[in-house]
Amino acid sequence: MHLVPHVVICEGCDAVYPKTPLASGETARCTRCGTELERYMGDTHKRILPLVVAGLLMFAVANLFPIVSIAIGGKHSTTTLVGAVMALTEEGMGEVAMLVLATTLLFPLLQLLILLYLLIPLTRQRRPPGFTQLVKALQSLQPWGMVEVFLLGILVAIVKLTSSAEVIAGPALGAFVALTVLLTAILSFQPRNFWQLAFAEPESRA
Ligand SMILES: [Zn+2]
Repeated sequence: MHLVPHVVICEGCDAVYPKTPLASGETARCTRCGTELERYMGDTHKRILPLVVAGLLMFAVANLFPIVSIAIGGKHSTTTLVGAVMALTEEGMGEVAMLVLATTLLFPLLQLLILLYLLIPLTRQRRPPGFTQLVKALQSLQPWGMVEVFLLGILVAIVKLTSSAEVIAGPALGAFVALTVLLTAILSFQPRNFWQLAFAEPESRA
């Protein structure tokens, strides 16, 4: 309805190919530049859904529990990742900190929420409202997916250089490690695979 469903455009060189159904284990590649066009997915999306739910839970635990302990004037106080970044960049860096937090926390959270919204109706062969726009949003968010993990790395580095702060080996740190593993698995699911799913399952069934 929104797109031409019968063609595939190569992401590497913009060559246009007619869409052909793939069998189990098959991959379509561009004959000009070798870029992967499509891969048979089967019910991969059904395996991704529980990972997304687990990812959201880990995201909550990672950000709600304290992860850093900071000593100020002989008094120890604990803070979350957000609080720690804010505290460590407070001197004249407030705006940068806000920007870093927006891109590192909001983007992965948005990705997980959009995936959840798209995947739940698809398990019942349905396309949710706003399907096309949300898949496009996912495609533009894709490069940002692992940034939060880099943020944690930076935080640990800062803490190691500062004598007043230390990382707490608690639930938040464990959740971050789990989130890293989950994100790696979740982000191996390419958003463009949604197009294949959508066209394989006609709207008339809904
Ligand atoms: Zn190509």
